[in-house]
Amino acid sequence: MARYTEAVCKLCRREGTKLFLKGDRCYSEKCAMNRRAYAPGQHGQGRKKTSEYGLQLRAKQMTKRFYGVLEKQFKGYYELGTKMQGKAGDNLLILLETRLDNIAYRCGWANSRAEARQLVVHGHFTVNGKKVDIPSYLVKPGDVVAIKENSKSNTKFKAVLENNASRPRPNWIDVDDGTSQAKISAFPTREEIDLEVDETLIVELYSK
Ligand code: SF4
Repeated sequence: MARYTEAVCKLCRREGTKLFLKGDRCYSEKCAMNRRAYAPGQHGQGRKKTSEYGLQLRAKQMTKRFYGVLEKQFKGYYELGTKMQGKAGDNLLILLETRLDNIAYRCGWANSRAEARQLVVHGHFTVNGKKVDIPSYLVKPGDVVAIKENSKSNTKFKAVLENNASRPRPNWIDVDDGTSQAKISAFPTREEIDLEVDETLIVELYSK
């Protein structure tokens, strides 16, 4: 399975915003965006390009990186979104939000989306009672995602759950901390997705 393996803080610095790719470190003083909030590389502090194409490209890259998805799969979500009812940009974000790795992260069951992805691959979650180990699995309203019974006693898992107990959960997921289950109550609305991006720029880029 292809994945991004370079230093992830550079991605935040390139996009000029926190993408929360490193768990606890993102909320601490050690976050690279607190110390070097400019693009990496020799010309990182130079003039920024603001062409129409440049803005569209940055919107796409930022969204891809936020969700930890590579180009081919990302474009696949866009194409799927254009076939759904509603706005293509909204649909793209909704599809990304309903990935199983994102759900696990949103529930506070992982410190970052990258960690959530790894936990999914290692088979720690079920959907409607069946083990699912595909990070890109798309959940839908009514689905119940849960931490597998024998994974709950895993020491690392316990520490992660404790660490993230106070993280706010989205309104569209009903998390039961007692049973470590989460019911998807609805698809998220655009307003409920906390990614500060103009998704219409991504639509414009792919529509060319
Ligand atoms: Fe981004 Fe987190 Fe690194 Fe800060 S610590 S730059 S938010 S990945």
